[in-house]
Amino acid sequence: MAQLSQHKTTKKIGVLNLQGAVSEHLNALTNIANVLAVAVKDAVQLADLDGLVIPGGESTAISRLINQNNLTLVIKQMALQGKGIFGTCAGLVLCGSSTPQNEVEQLKLIDISVERNGFGRQINSFETTLDIAPIGKQIPAIFIRAPYIVKAGDQVKQLAFVDNHCVMAQQDNVLVCSFHPELTSDNRIIQYFVNCCCS
Ligand code: GLN
Repeated sequence: MAQLSQHKTTKKIGVLNLQGAVSEHLNALTNIANVLAVAVKDAVQLADLDGLVIPGGESTAISRLINQNNLTLVIKQMALQGKGIFGTCAGLVLCGSSTPQNEVEQLKLIDISVERNGFGRQINSFETTLDIAPIGKQIPAIFIRAPYIVKAGDQVKQLAFVDNHCVMAQQDNVLVCSFHPELTSDNRIIQYFVNCCCS
């Protein structure tokens, strides 16, 4: 019995390794128990995952590279299969369904409309703490050229707000946030995402 209760399934979580905060997410995932974190950039690597992080960076660049690497359908397929997808900052833009300016080809994994750079430019970057009902209180959040969610469909749970702008949301197995949880030592958000990944 003791042996049985010690047995835990390892979840394999990929970080999309095209551009942006890849190593930061890999480091953050390394601190979560029972996770194998891997950098992924092709369809074969993606097919083998329990969950995928689409990191922050530059959404226009990541979008172009997703196209060049023919990953759009593979990522959509993962989401349809119920695998966990976590888009942070630029990753939130990419997971979204529309932006007013239409300058990024989005994956449409979650029914949100996104204002890119909604909180302003690099110089307007800021840090705050958030209370996120299903996760915890006083969670540190770093915003860098951050987007926000301007509209969310009925299926979407809006989880956190800054100045009345939605900055974190979830639709079933797809989680997005405007900020960078991987840049803080508080791993509650990353742990929440890992819990959403089936294995
Ligand atoms: N503003 C960037 C974009 O739209 C995102 C910035 C970030 O990921 N820190 O791509």
